[in-house]
Amino acid sequence: MKFNTKTIHGGQENVDPAYGSVMPPIYQTSTYSQSTPGGHKGFEYSRSGNPTRAALENSLASIENGKYGIAFGSGLAAIDAVMKLFKPGDEIISTNDLYGGSYRLFTSIFEKLGIKFQFIGMQEAENIENYINDHTKLIWVETPTNPMMNIIDIEAVSKIAKKHGLLLAVDNTFATPYLQLPLELGADIVMHSATKYLGGHSDVVMGGLVVKDQKLAEKLYFIQNASGAICGPQDSFLVLRGIKTLHLRMQRHCENGEAVAKFLKSHPKVDKVYWPGFDDHPNHHIAKKQMSGFGGMISFTTAEKTLESAVKLVEKLKVFTLAESLGGVESLAGHPASMTHAAIPKEEREKIGVLDSLIRLSVGVEDEEDLLEDLRQALG
Ligand SMILES: *Cc1c(COP(=O)(O)O)cnc(C)c1O
Repeated sequence: MKFNTKTIHGGQENVDPAYGSVMPPIYQTSTYSQSTPGGHKGFEYSRSGNPTRAALENSLASIENGKYGIAFGSGLAAIDAVMKLFKPGDEIISTNDLYGGSYRLFTSIFEKLGIKFQFIGMQEAENIENYINDHTKLIWVETPTNPMMNIIDIEAVSKIAKKHGLLLAVDNTFATPYLQLPLELGADIVMHSATKYLGGHSDVVMGGLVVKDQKLAEKLYFIQNASGAICGPQDSFLVLRGIKTLHLRMQRHCENGEAVAKFLKSHPKVDKVYWPGFDDHPNHHIAKKQMSGFGGMISFTTAEKTLESAVKLVEKLKVFTLAESLGGVESLAGHPASMTHAAIPKEEREKIGVLDSLIRLSVGVEDEEDLLEDLRQALG
């Protein structure tokens, strides 16, 4: 089965044995009747398993070319489950330019529990080897990175992970499996904030993991049930519905993203534009190798280079909504320095390029001309 077909049919055989409904029913139930103690039909309690969630988990596994999907109540709950594979004394090497919430989870929760993190630049994959020691267990990669749109070579990192017997996890939220398949490039775990492109309609918060290895899957299912950070059946249904149009939406996100990136690059009131599709993006060759398109996430700085100019610009936007989050059908604009990345000290922030004049766009699937016109009036 090819990708577009998988988004619709992958893992969806016989979702309703009772009546043959095309979409899986929303099994809004906490428990299931048993004919005799232990005599159930595959489900006993909805923390452990629910048919609607199972349909979604099978879809996730299918679209990521994995075998096992494990869904959670949020993207961070999914990352939290991965961290619970480890014990005090273990070390994790992570991308330094990553989602602020992941950074917060690592440093304020798991560091306290005795897991050590090293945050490093991974654009040169060989750099990672300098940080590996006997305690290292996992490499955590986010690519493209948020908000600087750096690209990390997943295949090169996976070779290093394999050489040293480490697990490799990739946060695939920005790219989605439409653009990039980390498991095919050697990753062991793919993570998603399904809140973003997979759900696609800004109406649900959810997370997911996908793996190929059965033993690893069993450990993660154990954590899912033992810690209990599951998603409900209604939310599972919504994300499953979102996935069915992922390929159509991503195609338009990519087209509009390219148009917006090029427009911004040629505009005199814009300084730098960060988008991996440009020839002069420092990791463009890797993006071209591992992604089938460049997506709809773009960051840029104003030519005036001031906080005020960026704030004024985002306030003037009308079609783009000023909001956190990304990946929905509607275009959003954000100001990382005061919104998503405000928790990072200014000095640290500026080291990785998150200046006060930086604006991040999640380009939606509206008409291109309306998006360009909105940016034109706001910049003018
Ligand atoms: C939003 C996001 C997360 C966290 O997901 P939630 O669903 O908000 O918990 C993790 N990684 C990336 C790249 C994100 O954009």
